[in-house]
Amino acid sequence: MRTTIIAGNWKMNLELEDALGLAQELRRLVRARVDGEVAICPPYPFLQPIAKALEGSAVDVGAQDVDAHKSGARTGAVSASMLRSVGCSFTLVGHSERRDVFGDTDEIIAQKLRAGLDHGLKVMLCIGEHLDDRESHRTFEVVLGQLDIALKDLTLEETSRITLAYEPVWAIGTGRSATPEQAQEVHQRIRAHIATLFNHDVAGSMRILYGGSVKSSNAADLLTQPDVDGALVGGASLKAESFVNIIRARKSS
Ligand code: PEP
Repeated sequence: MRTTIIAGNWKMNLELEDALGLAQELRRLVRARVDGEVAICPPYPFLQPIAKALEGSAVDVGAQDVDAHKSGARTGAVSASMLRSVGCSFTLVGHSERRDVFGDTDEIIAQKLRAGLDHGLKVMLCIGEHLDDRESHRTFEVVLGQLDIALKDLTLEETSRITLAYEPVWAIGTGRSATPEQAQEVHQRIRAHIATLFNHDVAGSMRILYGGSVKSSNAADLLTQPDVDGALVGGASLKAESFVNIIRARKSS
């Protein structure tokens, strides 16, 4: 049995007061882990106050990205040990906006993943194809290729700290979600690939979240799919009500 995760990616939104208010509302509404895990990724400046506000709650706090280096002359960058020191338990790496807007290559993403693991963080690795990849039937090639580069040289212990998020780029922030069948098809293929990279136990226990225009109206159908172990939510995670409705949708899935 895999515990589901509903994770919110706040991206570059909100200011401190609203961010703290949202975190406190989540603290009040998300009471127990009985139905799975809940996590949020606020912007960097809000990580410490939000981690404090959520201490002892059922909501984990993670970063949206991490630098690959330990320390040094890297203006604007934030290291994995810094994230740990302000109360983060995990970080995203490989989000399509980092790949497309900031130029993170598969190799850079592999280095970031390595830095996160080496400093004791859990890592949520985002992968996904662009629309032209899908239309030219290259979805599996792209997604599995991203996995091959990011996950090479991992120990079995390290695999237990990895969560995958399949996020078709054409579905992110567009309002156009993958269908449950499209999501399941890719998730199943990813899981089979994890078995060939590691073994069946690792494949059976690794969580694979779906991301891309998840909202309360489509969450239950996506989360019912056998290989969909939760959701990475952007826009709908910015309001407590819509995020909590997605968290509650998994109960009926
Ligand atoms: C995301 O940014 O990871 C995401 C899935 O965004 P949205 O839910 O807004 O499509």
